[in-house]
Amino acid sequence: MLDGAVAVVTGGSRGIGRAVAETLARSGARVVVGYHSQAEAAQEVVDGITAAGGVAVAHRADLRERAQADALIGAAQARFGRVDILVNNAGRTMDGLLLRMRDDDWSEVLRADLDGAFFCLRAAARPMLRQRSGRIVNIASVAGLVGNAGQANYSAAKAGLIGLTRAAAAELGSRQVTVNAVAPGWIETDMTAAVPAAVRESVLGRVPLGRLGRPEDVAQAVLFLASPGAAYITGTVLVVDGGLTMAG
Ligand code: NAP
Repeated sequence: MLDGAVAVVTGGSRGIGRAVAETLARSGARVVVGYHSQAEAAQEVVDGITAAGGVAVAHRADLRERAQADALIGAAQARFGRVDILVNNAGRTMDGLLLRMRDDDWSEVLRADLDGAFFCLRAAARPMLRQRSGRIVNIASVAGLVGNAGQANYSAAKAGLIGLTRAAAAELGSRQVTVNAVAPGWIETDMTAAVPAAVRESVLGRVPLGRLGRPEDVAQAVLFLASPGAAYITGTVLVVDGGLTMAG
């Protein structure tokens, strides 16, 4: 489906990003697996893709830094000659109640979740505009749509990412570059593993589909938005939450 396409997946070393990298590779894309601290995990993803007959390379970049985001996109161009798909997936949480939130916890999450996506999007848009095609998928969150108590920083960053998605979709559409967001609900990854069991059970009780999400659930939504069949979809937010926020 994606034969020959070159995809950059940020935060590809773990969780949702790993599933996205593997899914795009299975569909024929050549994948650059972006990571920050977990070199071994990223190499494991690359080795798995290669063993299955796919093509992937890992590239380290701290996306809070513009130059490293530029270098990540540059690495894809240097290695494969083009960039067709960018999945802005890297992100982190630093939860805390609003009145106790430290300035650093606010800005750290904004930098990792929003600045990094902006830097990558801007860098990838240049070659995509030149080639008059491209797919950008930003991994937001239902927190950016409904707001989560204890996640003012994260909710603001993800709401910002949705605004960025729509502004970029409006600017880049004339050259057939689509920009969409996927907003996952609760997905079982390292990010949610640290949340207290009582919160997990409470969320589970509110999911109409009766289970928590898996990284593959999100990866399938990303695959669709990156695929030829989604050519006329831009500026949208695809919610992948088992009905959680619909019910809320
Ligand atoms: P995760 O398992 O914690 O993985 C986070 C990924 O982001 C890792 O690959 C990490 O790289 C990378 N990363 C973090 N900070 C970075 C930085 N400064 N520069 C570059 N990469 C960085 O998270 P996840 O649950 O898979 O979440 C992936 C995305 O989905 C995030 O944007 C998250 O906000 C969003 N999301 C998750 C859920 C959920 O329930 N899990 C729900 C809604 C949205 P290293 O491993 O190399 O450090």
